[in-house]
Amino acid sequence: MSLNKTCAVPERIANITTPRDMVTYLEGVRGERGQSPIVLRPTSTQEVALCVHHCASHDIPFVPQSGNTGLVGASVPDDTGQMAVLSLDKLRGVFKVDLANRSVTVGAGLRLSDVNARLTEHGLFFPIDLGSDPMIGGMVATNTGGGRFLRYGDVRRNVLGLTVVLNTVEADILTLGSPVRKNNTGPDWKQNYIGTSGWYGVITEVILNLEPVVQEQETAIIVPSSDAAMLVLLQHLEARLGPLLSAYEFMSEPAMRHAFAHVSSLKNAFEDGIIPPNAVLIEVSRTTSKAPWDTPLDEVLQSALMEAWELENAPLQDALFGRPEEIWALRHALSEGVKSAGPLIAFDLGFTRDKVIAFRAEMARMLPQEFPEIEICDFGHLGDGGLHFNLIKSGGPLTSDYELELRDWVVEAAVERFGASYSAEHGIGPKNIRYFERYSVLEETQLKRQGDLFASRPIRKLETPK
Ligand SMILES: Cc1cc2nc3c(=O)[nH]c(=O)nc-3n(C[C@H](O)[C@H](O)[C@H](O)COP(=O)(O)OP(=O)(O)OC[C@H]3O[C@@H](n4cnc5c(N)ncnc54)[C@H](O)[C@@H]3O)c2cc1C
Repeated sequence: MSLNKTCAVPERIANITTPRDMVTYLEGVRGERGQSPIVLRPTSTQEVALCVHHCASHDIPFVPQSGNTGLVGASVPDDTGQMAVLSLDKLRGVFKVDLANRSVTVGAGLRLSDVNARLTEHGLFFPIDLGSDPMIGGMVATNTGGGRFLRYGDVRRNVLGLTVVLNTVEADILTLGSPVRKNNTGPDWKQNYIGTSGWYGVITEVILNLEPVVQEQETAIIVPSSDAAMLVLLQHLEARLGPLLSAYEFMSEPAMRHAFAHVSSLKNAFEDGIIPPNAVLIEVSRTTSKAPWDTPLDEVLQSALMEAWELENAPLQDALFGRPEEIWALRHALSEGVKSAGPLIAFDLGFTRDKVIAFRAEMARMLPQEFPEIEICDFGHLGDGGLHFNLIKSGGPLTSDYELELRDWVVEAAVERFGASYSAEHGIGPKNIRYFERYSVLEETQLKRQGDLFASRPIRKLETPK
C-alpha cells in the first residue's frame, strides 16, 4: 500500500493523517504501539462501506477501532506503517429507544456510558458492566463479559440484531436479527459477528436488549477459609439468594496489594489492614424498590452469610460490609494495580468453575519451580469461570523469548490439562493468534466449509456501495 492510495479515500470521509493527531489511535491500553498512514473516521454505515470498499479494492489492510480499551492488542495497527485505522468513533448518530420492547438501536460508536446515561430517564440500562468505558461496536466484536455475567450474561446474550459491513470488495451491508426476541426461521447469522474481533465485518449499528435499572444493591467482601471454599460459598449463595446474587468476583492477595499501593484513595477495611490470601466481592441487587413483600437486602445478605458460617468445614472466615461504590472501587482498581507493579504477562482464561480452583492450585505449585521470577496476581469472575491470570516478572526486564516460553507453558497447561479457553472475554488479537492457530483453526476451517454451503441461503442484502 502506498500513502497516496490511502489518501485517495473519498474526500467526504473524515480522516487524520498528521502524526501528532493520530497518537491516541495508535496506542493500546497495554502499551502496544503501531504505525499508520491514516485514520479513517466515517460517520454512517454507508461511509463505513465506502471505506471498506476502498481498502479492499486497493489491498489496504485496516483495523477497525472503537473505544481502544481492548486488552489483546487487536485494536491498534501493526508496526509496518501500512495498515489504516478504521475508527468508528463518529458513528454516534443513531439512538432509538423502544420502551415497550425494552430495546434500543444504537450507533456502534456510542460509548457504554453514553448509552446508559441516555437511558437513565427511562429507568433502563444495558446490563454489561466493566472497569473500562468501551464503545458498543467494540463490545460486540469482543463479546464483553464483565462483572455481572452471573446475572445478565455477556454481550452475545443481549444483542438482538446488528448491521454489519462485510470485509470484502463489495462491502455489502447486512442487517441481521431484529428487535423480535423470538425468531426461529433459520440460523442466527448475527452470531458470526459477535466475539469474532471484526474478522468478517465492521459492525455499524446494534439493537440491544435492555434491563430495568437496579434500585437496591448491597455488597460485601467475604474471606473464604481456603481456595476450595470459594466454590462452596458460591454454591451456597446461589442456592440461598437465587437471582438476587448479581456478582461474585474473587481477588487474590497480590492483586489487592498492588491495587492498594497504586490507588491511595482505596479503603483497606481488612482487620489490621492484613490482606487475606483471597477475598470475594459479592453483590446482591434487585430492580424493585422496597416493595412491601421485600425483606431489606442487607438483611437478606447477612442471613445468607450467617448460614454460611455454620456450613460444614467452616468455609467462611470473615465478611466485611461496605458501600457498593467503595467495594467496587477495589475490584475495578485491580487491573491498573497489577499493570503498575512491573512487567505484566496477562492471560484471560475461561474454565468450568471447579477447574478455576484446580488450575490455580497447580499454578501455585508449579510456577515458582519453572519461573521463579514470577508473582501470580490473579483475580476473576469466579461466578462464570473467568480467570484474569496476571503474572508480574521481577528481577530485570521481560524479554520476548522469556515471555513466549512463559505464555506457551501457561496456555498449554490451561487448555490441554484443564480444558480452558485461552480467551475468555478479550478476543484473539496478536496476543492470542499463536494459540488460535494451535487450538482453534481446525474447528474454524470445518465450520467455514459448512458456512460456504450456507452462503447461498438468503441473507437480507440491503445495498452495495459503488
Ligand atoms: C480497566 C479495564 C477493565 C476491563 N474489564 C473487562 C471485563 O471485565 N470484561 C471484558 O470482557 N473486557 C474487559 N476489558 C477489555 C475491553 O474493555 C473490552 O474488550 C471492550 O469490549 C473492548 O471494546 P472497545 O470499544 O474498546 O474495542 P476496541 O478495543 O477498539 O476493539 C476491540 C476489538 O474489536 C474490533 N472492533 C472494534 N470495533 C469494531 C466494530 N465496530 N466492528 C468490528 N470490529 C470492531 C477491533 O478491531 C479489535 O479487534 C477491560 C479493559 C480495561 C482497560
